[in-house]
Amino acid sequence: MNFSKLNMSIRWKMLGGFVLSALIPSILAYTELSKVAILIISLFIAIGLALFSIFRIMNTIKHVQEHFEPLAGQGTGEEEFDELRLIDESLSHFEEYLEQNRKEDLAGTHSEVKQSAVLEQVYKANLQTGAPICAEVWELPNRRTTELVSSARLAGAEAKIVLTRAKEAIVADLETLKDFSGLDDSNRGILDFQIMILEDPSFMMEVDKLIGRGENLLSVLSRVFGKFTDQMASQEDTYMRERSADFHDLKQRLFEAIHDVSGSEAENRFAAGKGKIAICQHVLPSEVISLCNAGVAGIISLENTPSSHAQILLSSLNVSSLSSINNLPLGSLHGHTVLLDTMKGRLTIEPLPREIKKVMDEYASRKSDVITEKIVLSNGDEFNVGVTVNNPQIEVTHAVDSQPDFVGLFRTEMHFLGQKELPTEDELIHTYQNLIDSFPDKLVVVRMLDLGGDKISGFEPTSGSEENPCMGLRSMRLLLEYPQLFKLQLRAILKASHKQVCLLYPMVSGWSELRKISDFVDETVKELNDEGFAAERPLKGIMVEVPSIVARFEDYVEHFDVFNIGTNDLVQYTLAADRNNNAVSNYYKSTHPSILSMIHKVSTLCKQKDKRAIICGQMGGDLRALPLLLGLGIRNISVNWPVVNELKSLVVEQNIEECEQLAEEALKCLSIEEVERVMKI
Ligand code: PEP
Ligand code: MG
Repeated sequence: MNFSKLNMSIRWKMLGGFVLSALIPSILAYTELSKVAILIISLFIAIGLALFSIFRIMNTIKHVQEHFEPLAGQGTGEEEFDELRLIDESLSHFEEYLEQNRKEDLAGTHSEVKQSAVLEQVYKANLQTGAPICAEVWELPNRRTTELVSSARLAGAEAKIVLTRAKEAIVADLETLKDFSGLDDSNRGILDFQIMILEDPSFMMEVDKLIGRGENLLSVLSRVFGKFTDQMASQEDTYMRERSADFHDLKQRLFEAIHDVSGSEAENRFAAGKGKIAICQHVLPSEVISLCNAGVAGIISLENTPSSHAQILLSSLNVSSLSSINNLPLGSLHGHTVLLDTMKGRLTIEPLPREIKKVMDEYASRKSDVITEKIVLSNGDEFNVGVTVNNPQIEVTHAVDSQPDFVGLFRTEMHFLGQKELPTEDELIHTYQNLIDSFPDKLVVVRMLDLGGDKISGFEPTSGSEENPCMGLRSMRLLLEYPQLFKLQLRAILKASHKQVCLLYPMVSGWSELRKISDFVDETVKELNDEGFAAERPLKGIMVEVPSIVARFEDYVEHFDVFNIGTNDLVQYTLAADRNNNAVSNYYKSTHPSILSMIHKVSTLCKQKDKRAIICGQMGGDLRALPLLLGLGIRNISVNWPVVNELKSLVVEQNIEECEQLAEEALKCLSIEEVERVMKI
């Protein structure tokens, strides 16, 4: 809606009145009423319609005036005309405001209906960061467009002065934020990018030119930023598309700064959130920082995506937060107490005191005794606990905090799962660098794409067409078949690497493919060197998950640095039992004597040749299996970050001689049941 449309709507109402007043007497003329009666009835109808129209028009004008009070009655004549022009320019904001109110009204009605159901529920979040927290929920108020309307009169020379001061204030703010502890290089990159835009002469020249013509400051900024945001949003590159949010964010910052600089007394939007958990539909990066500065206890954002900058910030600032939650009724939570269990990604409304205590105690016990010293077993052997990372953008802070000895498995599928398009090399470098740089002096085992089976991407050529995908064109087989995919990922890993990065090849079954893989890696290293990038041949490892590798392990042990025993697949392929099929779960057991013998063989040969054997399947996270694994000679286990410390504290309690006796007994067993009896599970 704009001002001329408003006039149009008034005109239509008047025209409607005229037409009705003319039609009704004509219809009445066909009845048997006398002319006097027709005249009186028509007169009444005409007066009624006129009064109704006047009432509707007055009401509309009153509605407009109410929302533009700050501008009302501040001048006459020429000035008044100017005011009207400015109001007209601001009406697009007004429309946004009315729409906002309408949505809020709807949300209000909705929330009353849902209120009772909501309180009994626990909601699952897909993304989580920081420590668990329990506090009152506070709904982050929307930016009220009425606040902006008061600054809408800024034009000409005054607008230029206000804009310059607003820009200076934001740049100073952004520079301060760059010193915020916990920000990593990629976060600083976002802030630098915003500073660069503000200081870019060509970008601001367009704004200055339009202001110079006497146009209103806010509508100029809206238009110019809108144009750039749209341009970014239509880019093919996902990373660039996501940057359009940074433009939008910067525009909001500018609006707020202009509002502050031009002397409005609007309240700080964030101040009331102090000590509370802010909830909103979609948190912006600048809002994350402002909310932290305002001292909020936590943040709930219903719609964040893993690679959004807001989520990256939440993770690297270690803010207590839950994001990406389905069906959480935003409008119903204000004023309620909620518990954010950031270890399990659960949100509980009005939790019981004992639930809060349980979560907090669990967190405290994990946090208080983080074991940082190297673990030495009772026989003098070193033991290393690694961390498994599935999505660095979310897990990296937690992974570092859990103080692992190394990164035992970085599953790199996350960027590809369910995607219709391939990521770019730069996007991949950005993600890999984020993790690798967080462990600058530690072994980081980066697994090549293990797509296929149940890990489906939208672009995969074979997906859905294989009868038995787990044994089909999966993992390295897929990469060898599609060298452009192999090359894309390999180049990104090599570019993001340091000396202790190890390339891990999943689902390999023999030397035929290993030779091809090795040649491909050599070629790619050479290609990068020819391009002037000093790439080195990285450490290399294989997943021990296809039984053929174990059967002839002596053929492989000398040729690789690392052997990741992937018990999840090793069990399914050795025992011919689908890891995802409940009907065969009695057959799918890592305690099968054949699996124990395989682990024993791999660990023994690795020890002889001074190589690293790492348990990286779920068996490593099953703490009941720890004494047995230690007894079988395992000295490296990789688990998800929440289990790292628990595993370390359990390892230090073990007596290695007892573990070896247990393993000896288990290896003599004939069946799963016998092994489990020996293990007492
Ligand atoms: C495994 O197979 O044990 C493993 C760690 O890999 P994934 O679970 O990703 O197949
Ligand atoms: Mg596997």
